[in-house]
Formats: sequence, C-alpha cells, structure tokens
Amino acid sequence: MYLGAIEAGGTKFVCAIGDREGNIYERIQFPTTMPEETMQRVIDFFNNYSLEAIGIGTFGPVDLNRESETYGYITNTPKPYWSKFDFVGTIQQRFHIPVGFDTDVNAATLGEMFWGRAKGKNSCIYMTVGTGIGVGAIVEGRLVHGLLHPEMGHIFIGRHPDDTFAGSCPFHGDCLEGLASGPAIEKRWGRRGADLSRQNEVWELEAFYLGQAIAQYILILSPEQVIVGGGVAKQPTLLPLIRYHVLSHLNGYVQHEVILEHMDEYITSPGLGDDSGICGALALAKQALLE
Ligand code: ADP
Ligand code: ZN
Repeated sequence: MYLGAIEAGGTKFVCAIGDREGNIYERIQFPTTMPEETMQRVIDFFNNYSLEAIGIGTFGPVDLNRESETYGYITNTPKPYWSKFDFVGTIQQRFHIPVGFDTDVNAATLGEMFWGRAKGKNSCIYMTVGTGIGVGAIVEGRLVHGLLHPEMGHIFIGRHPDDTFAGSCPFHGDCLEGLASGPAIEKRWGRRGADLSRQNEVWELEAFYLGQAIAQYILILSPEQVIVGGGVAKQPTLLPLIRYHVLSHLNGYVQHEVILEHMDEYITSPGLGDDSGICGALALAKQALLE
C-alpha cells in the first residue's frame, strides 16, 4: 500500500506516490489551471495506485479548522476559479481514504521533521524565502495552527538605517516579506536575486533582515532546529551571513551550546532539498493515516 502526496502551488501541482518512510516512487508535475481540469489530472494519476491515505500541502488561503463547514477549502483567493474550492472534499469523494490537509509551508515543515534536518527533534522552524516569506513551526511535536496558522513572514522588523526602500508587501509595506522576499530584492536593487550574486551588499542586507527575524523566532518559540529554504536561500553566501546576524541580534543572551558553538548545524538548508514540500505532503498523508 502506498501514500499519495499533492504539493499544490499557484503555478504548478506536483503529485507523488510514496511510502511511510518518506520514499517517493513516482511523481508528475503539471500547471495549475482551472480546478476541475487540474483535479482530474490529480485523480487520473492516483487512480493507478492502491492508496492508504493522501496528503495535501497547498497554496492558500485555506480553512484548516476541522470544526468549520468549509474545512479543507481554499477560501478567498484572488487566483481565478479557486476561491471556495473544496479541496479535501473533492479528493475524499473520489478515494474514501484519510486525507491530510495543511498549508504548503506547514507541510514542508512536517516533511523536514519526519525525514529531513529536524528528524528526531521535537520542535523546529522552517522558513521559505521565495516569492513570499512563509514560516512553519513545530512546537512540542506538533505543527502550530492556533486561530488559522502563524504568519511569521509578515512580522515587523527593525529597519537597517541605510535602507530607504519602502517595502513591497501590499498589506504592510515594510514587514519582513516586504523587505526581504524575492520580489522585494528585485524591486529594491532593480535586478533579480539570481543576477545579484556578486553584489555583497544585497546579501548583507538580506541576512540582516532574515537574521533578525530568525532571532525573534528563537526568542519566542525556542526551536531545536532552524531550516531556511526557498529560491532566495539558493544564494550560497546567504546562510553564513544569516548565522552571523542571528548571533549578533541574540548577543549571547540565549545560553545553549547549539547556539553558542554549533550554529552551522543549528541553522541549515533543508535536508530534503527541493523535496521538502512534496515529502511534507507525504508526511501529512502518514499523519492522517495514523490519526
Ligand atoms: P515560490 O516562492 O514562488 O514557490 P521560489 O521559492 O523558487 O518559488 O522563489 C522564487 C523567488 O526566488 C523569485 O523572486 C526569484 O527571483 C528568487 N530566486 C530564485 N533563485 C534565486 C537565486 N539563485 N538567488 C536569489 N534569488 C533567487
Ligand atoms: Zn506583510
């Protein structure tokens, strides 16, 4: 018996077949079009297998409240046709097996906890720095949801004194995402991040903001592991600079040997590489099955 995984993004869907150990045997990828057409491709793919459970990590906004009538829906997205789409219902009506459902970033966080860098730990933070900034948190062994789910990419951050960029978040202007997402980098410096590799000041400023945010997460949640992924984190110079800025913001206050002596292992790239999201969906399937 297999597990099914869906990583639903605004531009593309990835579906995979895997097992309870996090192995992936088959996968396909196709563009996100209209819900009916896209879901038909998902169903056609899964129809070839005998599945025990399916996990969905998806773009949002989503309704994660199991008590709600619209649990498992994509809610009010500006993305054409997907508003009020019953994602879990559509899958469950076809397959009649347990379905795990969470945000894309929460899924990736769980994937890293089950089979990636946070394996064996009881808590972690997974941050993705890409088109947006999303952060998932596991505390005492469980993903944090609360009212909806945390939105730690939109926290307010002390500005660098030399930074005059207004910020690009449509809601908050210069929140973390408005200052440090991929589009914020492009808007501030006039070129895409991938074309700015040699511009040290770009990554210095980026790490100043991301490091500050991670220091706040450490102070608030005390995670045992911090993982930084997403397109922007592909810049090889970024992670060491982030570690430096985290230490500098904490300034010796958090007295744990992991922070004081093993920063290279404490703040890392994803153990699952680009597969955190799809393995995360697999982890959601496993979790749904075990519940
Ligand atoms: P998404 O967030 O849409 O899922 P990504 O995580 O790939 O996708 O993030 C895309 C963003 O990352 C874009 O803004 C892009 O400019 C930026 N990006 C992609 N590769 C790099 C790179 N090597 N260096 C810096 N920025 C990058
Ligand atoms: Zn914001």
